[in-house]
Amino acid sequence: MQADDGLCFRFPLRTLIPLSSFFANIESTFHNQKDDDTVIETIITLPSATSKGLALALTVLQKSILGDPIELSNDKDAAVLIEALSVTKAYDLPIITSLILRQAVVQFDDEPFVLYAVAVIAGDEPTAVHASRLTLPFDIDLFLPDKLGRILQEHNLYALSRLGDLHHNRKRGFEKFKQLLLRYQAVPDGERFTKACSKGKGCEAFEMFKGDFGDLRQRTGEAFYEVFVAMSGVDARTVLTSMIKGIVQCEKCAGRISKCFAHALWTFEKKAKSTI
Ligand SMILES: [Zn+2]
Repeated sequence: MQADDGLCFRFPLRTLIPLSSFFANIESTFHNQKDDDTVIETIITLPSATSKGLALALTVLQKSILGDPIELSNDKDAAVLIEALSVTKAYDLPIITSLILRQAVVQFDDEPFVLYAVAVIAGDEPTAVHASRLTLPFDIDLFLPDKLGRILQEHNLYALSRLGDLHHNRKRGFEKFKQLLLRYQAVPDGERFTKACSKGKGCEAFEMFKGDFGDLRQRTGEAFYEVFVAMSGVDARTVLTSMIKGIVQCEKCAGRISKCFAHALWTFEKKAKSTI
């Protein structure tokens, strides 16, 4: 097989025939020409394949056949990976697309922008949706590598703008969440420490906040907002309780506050989108 730059790769056609309508068609032309079982070698030109992309696609297939572990290169712009997916698309090799995608899900859990691009170009919407959520804690304007952005722009502008919209809407939502949290931070109807927590010297939280439950609410609310922004609100619920417990040393008081902010978060999440 000859890639667009002239580089050739030797690969058994019989392996590709059952996997791809493109190679099956080529086989039928040969079949009409040859009249015995002699092994013939010929060059099939693949003008839509870059040599790096073709090499990767064929390596992935070969490793899968041999049962060897597949390892995708870990470059942040994923250019070769995208070229390999272009090859599988152009020459109808969906099995290789799936192999690449499956490996990307395992390997690029901590490179969500790469995973998003791979999923989009492989045409896998559920994985793209999943990856879009994983990208949220990373500011798109700072963390989306330029080259990967250009690749997405070239292959699927709509996918890039969907991801941009998600991030920018999410950021705008922070201000709303801040306002919402302020309402939850305010002490309703003179809410105070419980009798048990204010008895004698009082509980650890009573002591720390000098009996001022409003101060406790306000300071924990501010700390929670910091964490919320840092996590872009994603999975903030899972750290909420442990975070509050870390500040408010009394289990009972921490429980009351966590419950209250969990409600604020729930109210926010009801309306905010966290995936494309
Ligand atoms: Zn307490």
